[in-house]
Amino acid sequence: MTEFRTLLIRYDEIGLKGRNRKYFENCLLNNIKRALDGLDGVRFRLPRGRVMIDSPAPLADECAKRLAYVPGIASFSVGYQVNPDFEEMAALGIQLIEPHLRSGDELKFCVRTQRTDKSFYKTSPEINFEVGSRIMAALAEKGLVVNIKEAEIVIELEIGRAESVLFDHRIPGIRGLPVGCSGNVLSLLSGGIDSPVASFFMMRRGCRVHFIFFDNQPFLGRGGLDKVLKLSKILNRYQSRGRVYVVPFQDIQVAIRDHCSPENRVVLYRRMMYRIGQELAKKIKCLGLVTGESLGQVASQTLENLAAVSCVVPISVFRPLIGMDKQEIIAHARKIETYEISIEPAPDCCSVFMPSRPATRSRIDKLERDESKFPWQDLMQEAMGKTEVIDLDSLVSG
Ligand code: ATP
Ligand code: MG
Repeated sequence: MTEFRTLLIRYDEIGLKGRNRKYFENCLLNNIKRALDGLDGVRFRLPRGRVMIDSPAPLADECAKRLAYVPGIASFSVGYQVNPDFEEMAALGIQLIEPHLRSGDELKFCVRTQRTDKSFYKTSPEINFEVGSRIMAALAEKGLVVNIKEAEIVIELEIGRAESVLFDHRIPGIRGLPVGCSGNVLSLLSGGIDSPVASFFMMRRGCRVHFIFFDNQPFLGRGGLDKVLKLSKILNRYQSRGRVYVVPFQDIQVAIRDHCSPENRVVLYRRMMYRIGQELAKKIKCLGLVTGESLGQVASQTLENLAAVSCVVPISVFRPLIGMDKQEIIAHARKIETYEISIEPAPDCCSVFMPSRPATRSRIDKLERDESKFPWQDLMQEAMGKTEVIDLDSLVSG
């Protein structure tokens, strides 16, 4: 086997993007390059409809590990460059299949060929036959059978003009669109289970996501911020170049506690979060806010209360989890590797000064009356002035 591996990357959805296709492809290629940064000797190519990577063999596994975090990739394979020679292809196929054969058991297999070089002297079915029959000749006695519909192992061949590649399985990518091609959004990230999942879904639709965290350290300690930094570091693996904005929130919460009706507190906190989020989004050129809200999950997430919060800002508010139940959200959180951090115990800021019976149907006139009782504009400016920025790429892990 050669000292190089060829990684073949497929991107179904961008493939459909018509005239914008080049833009999406470049965006994906740049993201892949960034994801593989620091791996010496890795080279990139962009033949039609594919990204190809040549990697020194010892680095191929690390490349594959990192590609699994890049939105926009539908699937990829780690393959081998071969000469368009049936003996050579079959020999390599045999080497790849042999470890899967268990004595006495049947193993179903087939060969599938795609020709990007249509001038090649054999058609795809002919190539399947040439290579497949040679493999069968060597391994039929060990239990290998041809079964095109239910193959457990597929030897795939891509025959191109300049090169041919052979590989034995496809690794699923996270699909979607490459980060950056849709623009930037600002995600309200708490330490809970939901908002990290919501942030991930926006990345998968091509957004670069920055994070804003409302911190109530004097009352809650550092636990909340630590969690949010760990979560955002994990999320940043899917995109890079994200930032976390930490807004001191205690003065606003104390003012609301001291001046407003207890049953409105949570919605009033949330209105302040949206207002600050919108101001920051404008400043850093984000085109929307993102939250982890899901309809009916808690008292503050009824239709009435969501409306009573959204109406304070003109910016778009995206809630990718709105129709999901908790079990679905948890399943996603496990998959994106945020769940274990999210369930670490740490109080969240909305539970401080939590009333015993929060209103489920806030009335806007009452909320506005409450807000006229404290100088929220001044407190908001003050909090924004004290906002800290953390660059996630430069944040050391841990
Ligand atoms: P999560 O699991 O994301 O914390 P949740 O189900 O606990 O969500 P709430 O606490 O009602 O729901 O919060 C709703 C949304 O408001 C969160 O998903 C998040 O987007 C935002 N949010 C809440 N608290 C904060 C905070 N301290 N900083 C930033 N955003 C917050
Ligand atoms: Mg929460």
